[in-house]
Amino acid sequence: MLKKVLIANRGEIAVRIVRACAEMGIRSVAIYTEPDRYGLHVKRADESYSLGDDPLAGYLDPARIVNLAVETGCDAVHPGYGFLSENANFARLCEQKGVAFIGPKSGVIHGMGDKTQARDSMRAAGIPITPGSEGNLDSLDEALELANEIGYPVMLKATSGGGGRGIRRCDTPQELKVQYPRVISEATKAFGSAEVFMEKCIVNPRHIEVQILADSQGNAIHLFERDCSIQRRNQKLIEIAPSPQLTPEQRQYIGDLAVRAAKAVGYENAGTVEFLLSGNEVHFMEMNTRVQVEHTITEAITGVDIVREQLRIASGLPLSYRQEDVQYRGYALQFRINAEDPKNDFLPSFGRITHYYAPGGPGVRVDTAIYTGYEIPPYYDSMCLKLVVWALTWDEVIARGKRALDDMRLHGIKTTANYYQQILDHADFRKGVFNTSFVPDHPELLNYSTKRHPSEIALALAATIAAHAGW
Ligand code: ADP
Ligand code: ADP
Ligand code: MG
Repeated sequence: MLKKVLIANRGEIAVRIVRACAEMGIRSVAIYTEPDRYGLHVKRADESYSLGDDPLAGYLDPARIVNLAVETGCDAVHPGYGFLSENANFARLCEQKGVAFIGPKSGVIHGMGDKTQARDSMRAAGIPITPGSEGNLDSLDEALELANEIGYPVMLKATSGGGGRGIRRCDTPQELKVQYPRVISEATKAFGSAEVFMEKCIVNPRHIEVQILADSQGNAIHLFERDCSIQRRNQKLIEIAPSPQLTPEQRQYIGDLAVRAAKAVGYENAGTVEFLLSGNEVHFMEMNTRVQVEHTITEAITGVDIVREQLRIASGLPLSYRQEDVQYRGYALQFRINAEDPKNDFLPSFGRITHYYAPGGPGVRVDTAIYTGYEIPPYYDSMCLKLVVWALTWDEVIARGKRALDDMRLHGIKTTANYYQQILDHADFRKGVFNTSFVPDHPELLNYSTKRHPSEIALALAATIAAHAGW
């Protein structure tokens, strides 16, 4: 078993990994940059090291992080999600320095991080992929020609993209002409690569993804699916496990498909295979070679601790489960509570948390790195808390979600919590029928009242007075 792990991340996922390490008797090492000095991951890890004043540079410096891991006697590095988690160079550097990278081999990260290469591997393995370009597009003319062939609407996508960025739908040749240079420039800025490719736009699909686990002995299993169709601008807001809109046959088919995909590329550790579903058609979209933000809901329905399995796999141990050992029970929802103002086009709302009260009670889990008095730095993700609820039935999990959102108090910043209440009240959502257009199709859900409960106003007032008095 690993003895000491450096966590190359921050925020809630770093805290999540610290917790798994603590339960397994593994020492944890946190890194931080100065704006994060008061971050919870710094307080909770066994050791922590500053990587300088720049908010981001330290978290994105492979050589410095690997050297620190060696100097502090770590036998592994956990990259979390975002930052260097899908950076093949970082994984390779770890391999070279004899530090286990908690994820697949660098070659697999490289192959899957490049979406056109991933499509090639899946095509070769007989996995159905979204129709589209073979490889990257070389010119606008090629894009126009291909779009004519596969038919509009089409999607232009950044080959190295992630986090929902670098994706544009084009309904006409005119739009394609406008969007082509835009996606290239966005891809260059965000991902340092100008490569783009094209897919047929699957109209009103459901986003269904499968969690997989694979060990170094060649065993691979899936932990069922998540439905991440509730999205805004291709970014997930509420995630659901299992999907309320799959038949048992579809569930089994897509789970098997994901395991086949993982085996085809020699996958190791935890990963996610993302698909788009339209009617009974399934298309491979991409593979994320890391722990995902929404791994929590899979943990809730299966009881499998995914981060623990990641640490075991990186220690060279076999999976704790065979496929037939994994069952799921009930439903789980995850709400990404973002520091954003839904009423103002989801503009980030950073600042000091003047009061935070965590929701609790049966079937509730909160993963966060915030606390009362914490100032959310403006340099990172706007997601500040993950609220996960579990219940036996679909109706019950919705009621529990509403109750838990209502329990929570988070003052000082604007968040997406009230908006989620509106989604939970919508008849289609309650019926379990929705696709990736749900959020754009229902702008009226943004018209909720922001009138606050008198006790909240009193608390906010007290916090303001306290702040002015310098308490
Ligand atoms: P998940 O796939 O786990 O649902 P997201 O797509 O929301 O997660 O991404 C999680 C975090 O990782 C976000 O902060 C996102 O901006 C970042 N991220 C994901 N992919 C990339 C990428 N290719 N390049 C840079 N950042 C990325
Ligand atoms: P990222 O790496 O940013 O997560 P994905 O390729 O996973 O990018 O796509 C993110 C989201 O964009 C999907 O969940 C889906 O809503 C939308 N999307 C991507 N490709 C298509 C497509 N070909 N047709 C329709 N929607 C798509
Ligand atoms: Mg994706």
